Amino acid sequence: MINLLSLDLQGMEALFAELGEKPFRARQVLKWIHRRGAADFAAMTDIAKDLRAKLAAAAAIEPPLVVGDGAVPDGTRKWLLKVDGANAVEAVFIPEDGRGTLCVSSQAGCTLDCAFCATGKQGFNRNLSAAEIIGQLWLANGALGCHAGGPRAVSNVVFMGMGEPMLNLDAVIPAARLMIDDNGYGLSRRRVTVSTSGVVPGMDRLAAECPVALAVSLHAPDDALRDRLVPINRKYPIRELIGACNRYLERAPRDFITFEYVMLDGVNDSDAQARALLGIAAGVRCKFNLIPFNPFTASGFKRSPPERIKRFAEVLQRAGLTATTRKTRGDGIDAACGQLAGDVSDRTRRGKSVPITELRA
Ligand code: SF4
Repeated sequence: MINLLSLDLQGMEALFAELGEKPFRARQVLKWIHRRGAADFAAMTDIAKDLRAKLAAAAAIEPPLVVGDGAVPDGTRKWLLKVDGANAVEAVFIPEDGRGTLCVSSQAGCTLDCAFCATGKQGFNRNLSAAEIIGQLWLANGALGCHAGGPRAVSNVVFMGMGEPMLNLDAVIPAARLMIDDNGYGLSRRRVTVSTSGVVPGMDRLAAECPVALAVSLHAPDDALRDRLVPINRKYPIRELIGACNRYLERAPRDFITFEYVMLDGVNDSDAQARALLGIAAGVRCKFNLIPFNPFTASGFKRSPPERIKRFAEVLQRAGLTATTRKTRGDGIDAACGQLAGDVSDRTRRGKSVPITELRA
């Protein structure tokens, strides 16, 4: 039975063609599912009864199961979502003045093993399906009251949760298309951001098939350090990455790339390293987002002191670059960047098995 959450407009129209139905019916059903949060064909009152019956026989609308739901006083909210018997992933909603950002996961675990990342430490289990990715937005809208006619709470989506989105583009692209489709969530391309640690072929494919905003996890000003912190750099070193960024900009909805840069005490946060970043910035239009590191057990790193982060930002700013420092939100629920570890059973040899501990089904 097909899960209709997995289908973008193209996929839905193909299904309706198979069912002998007109394309406009596909758009109607998309709106019911994503705009009104329908999970039951019976609720789709402007769809003919016989078509509803046909759909009920062939398809279902099945989001992941919410097994944990935590909030902290600053309004940050995190959901733990069970996607199968062994895997759970996380989605985090971060409200700010004038906007609400949902951070979604694209994989259960991650293969790339960045040195400072809690998700990477858990190893990789599997790719999420398009339904499991868009299901995070669908569930958040429901939990935040939008399906019940409340104001739209999620204005921005960032693919910065668990996983490397560029290694799961077969699912990420349909999910991103639904996010920007007027029959779906109607978000601007500029407000959907895919983040990558630098998987160059994926960047080229995303640019060709669904150019949305792009964030690149840079984290180091030179290949020697980046090889250690972000091991994918050994395959796609900084020069190739910058080339891919420039190709991406030819199609991107924004005229800059956001470089994410996690601030690690005594590792990548010196003035000399800030100055070295200027060389990278000379090669591509970019902005820097400095992220205070969120320590986790056995990470081996410490967060740079606030004064150091300020000074690092000033070096960039004095050279005319935009450098902002991300506010740390949601510490109390492990929802800050780099802490989206979820609870997955690690089937790799990298770490020992971690059980799902927050089941509250
Ligand atoms: S930082 Fe991103 S790409 Fe690197 S291990 Fe973590 S989830 Fe994977």
